[in-house]
Amino acid sequence: MAIEPWNAVFLAGFAVYVAIRHVYEKRARGAEKVVNRFDRLEAGLLAVVAAGTLILPLIYLCTPWLAFADYRLPAAVPRCGAAVMIAALWLFHRSHADLGRNWAVTLQLRRDHELVRSGVYRRVRHPMYAAILLFGVAQGMLLANWLAGWSALATFALLYILRTPREERMLLDHFGEPYRDYMRASGRLLPRWRRGK
Ligand code: SAH
Repeated sequence: MAIEPWNAVFLAGFAVYVAIRHVYEKRARGAEKVVNRFDRLEAGLLAVVAAGTLILPLIYLCTPWLAFADYRLPAAVPRCGAAVMIAALWLFHRSHADLGRNWAVTLQLRRDHELVRSGVYRRVRHPMYAAILLFGVAQGMLLANWLAGWSALATFALLYILRTPREERMLLDHFGEPYRDYMRASGRLLPRWRRGK
């Protein structure tokens, strides 16, 4: 298997992504969950995202099966993709650090769950999802293949659209007015700069 230089950059970024997740997953492990809204929709979405972020890129990198969907990119595109990947990894790391032990892979709340409104959560309610969407854009700019390149962005966008209203409903039910207040003061993916709380 000959790895093209930009594919190697993607693999390095992916390794950093997995390492960040691994470190923080260990820290959040073991807490008692008082709310668990993991259901068939969540399971299906997580499986689809795993296919888009992991399985298709691996098939692309290790086999010739997806070669029919290859295309050529101008040299500037993967260079910008590397920059987007660095930004995505920075935000991915910061959102894990700020959410701390309140992180979960699915819709869950721990017994001592705290509402986080600081750091990258100050003006954006879903910085981790923003980071993963950015990572998907970087993947598309680095892997010159319609399927393996854009599968992460497409599958995670689906998860984002279907999960985010349910996640916000869960947090509203649990925290009540403080979360409503936070919603007024922040944007979903982009910062809200409005004055006041
Ligand atoms: N949607 C957030 C967090 C993703 S991790 C983001 O994109 O940054 C998913 C878990 O984070 C959810 O199960 C929820 O319990 C928790 N969560 C989401 N926003 C939170 C917040 N502001 N404070 C504390 N926990 C939060």
